Amino acid sequence: MGTILFHDPVFGPIHSRRLGTSLGINLMPTQRKICNFNCIYCECGWNKPLEDKDKDLPGFRLPSVHEVVDSLDKKLASMKAAGLAPDVITFSGNGEPTGHPHFLTIMKQTVKLRDTYFPGAQVCVLSNSGYLDRPGVMEGLMLADKRIMKIDSAFSPTVAAINQPAASYSLEKTIENLKRFDVFFTLQTLFFSGEYNGSVIDNTTPEEVEAWLEVVAKLRPREVMVYTLDRETPAPGLKKCSCEKLEAIATRVRAMGINVQVAG
Ligand code: SF4
Repeated sequence: MGTILFHDPVFGPIHSRRLGTSLGINLMPTQRKICNFNCIYCECGWNKPLEDKDKDLPGFRLPSVHEVVDSLDKKLASMKAAGLAPDVITFSGNGEPTGHPHFLTIMKQTVKLRDTYFPGAQVCVLSNSGYLDRPGVMEGLMLADKRIMKIDSAFSPTVAAINQPAASYSLEKTIENLKRFDVFFTLQTLFFSGEYNGSVIDNTTPEEVEAWLEVVAKLRPREVMVYTLDRETPAPGLKKCSCEKLEAIATRVRAMGINVQVAG
């Protein structure tokens, strides 16, 4: 199983199917994933307990504010010198970026550096929406130009099967929290089907899609991104959603007057 870890706090730029030329920021360790979710499709692989032999190694702890900001400063300076402009500076990486205890401070510094080097670039955060109750997380997310917030199903049992969130996660609470963005966010959902641990998982059934559309109607995000699997997944045997099905879902969202991006 080939999964990808990002081995620096700042990586790329890479070409993103959804965002264009994207310079990535990874606020999690460089040698392992840390996430409050353990999605069965996660390109970074599974969460694993920290082994004693690794616990004092630098790549296994969270990067400091200084490490992130210094790396970003150097990378943006070198891109400027090379005449290479990013479309977007994207927080993603080896786990949930808002899980970093200094997320807000890092966001403030990132916006400053963006303004200095590439004022035309957007700052974007990819988040699983699971830490919106934590101090500073909403505030930090509001500093971004784009907040891309994940909800993969309107049903808690499906979310439990797909995302395997930490016990403290509540889908209902998350939907309430997303309302606090007052439409100023992008809702992203990965559609796929398959079998895991002997259970069928499919968030593309008519029942799933209808319930998900109700959530979209309730939240009315500025934009919706629907996409499907692109790379190998830690759980074997998962199947991409067809382009036709993604387009059919997108058409229903557009009919509500909401902009949709589709990545099949
Ligand atoms: S939320 Fe993102 S980083 Fe976390 S497990 Fe899911 S796909 Fe991986």
